Amino acid sequence: MKVLTAVKRVVDYNVKVRVKSDQSGVDIGNVKMSMNPFDEIATEAAVRLKEAGKASEVVAVSCGGAQSQETLRTALAIGADRGVLVETDAELQPLAVAKLLKAVVDKEQPQLVILGKQAIDDDAGQVGQLLAALLDWPQATFASEIEIGEGAAVVTREVDGGLEVISLRLPAIVTTDLRLNEPRYVTLPNIMKAKKKPLDTLRPADLGVDPAPRLKTLKVVEPPVRKAGVIVPDVAALVEKLKSEAKVI
Ligand code: AMP
Repeated sequence: MKVLTAVKRVVDYNVKVRVKSDQSGVDIGNVKMSMNPFDEIATEAAVRLKEAGKASEVVAVSCGGAQSQETLRTALAIGADRGVLVETDAELQPLAVAKLLKAVVDKEQPQLVILGKQAIDDDAGQVGQLLAALLDWPQATFASEIEIGEGAAVVTREVDGGLEVISLRLPAIVTTDLRLNEPRYVTLPNIMKAKKKPLDTLRPADLGVDPAPRLKTLKVVEPPVRKAGVIVPDVAALVEKLKSEAKVI
């Protein structure tokens, strides 16, 4: 069984981004970039399936600028066998990414595609669901456990108020939640090995996809600055304040 994982290059989760002065977006010049954390979990899940003998090959796919190669190399260092870069400098919105991934899926014919539940830069949380719709494949979002059986996957999903276990026929789409696994630490020998693994580059035109944005960002602004809190001397003062000052927002 071939497994495909989708990995996005995003601003590292430790970086505090700043809004550009012209409000056109956030400034990502000179900031640390990393693989989207949920995609590390996706790649780890795929590699564990391979190690367990359930998957025969793990292919990592990234869409974006040439530097997304670094993200693919990280996926290869985690243990993916091959990387595919869909290279474009166009601004990629979730629908465009889903169309590009669909074209790669049509070419690669995987039985399982594992994506992150969301990319932490735009927090869209859409690509997995859009891809499932475009392919007309079953989907299990927010997975905290994946088990592969004969022609089917049993996925435990994190839902409001608990867990839901569903069975999906393969091929299928799964998106990862935080509790699915803890990705391994990427070691130097594996980083060196990853440099020798195959990495193909395609362009959206090779896949017959026009990635042009459909949505226009009007402006991006900083969130309002929070007012300083007040330290109350004791519980009685707190209760008094709750009675006299607290408002339901
Ligand atoms: P989003 O819907 O943008 O929050 O992204 C959800 C998931 O889709 C991510 O965790 C990735 O697995 C995948 N994804 C989003 N954008 C890209 C991209 N440019 N290249 C590869 N995978 C992506």
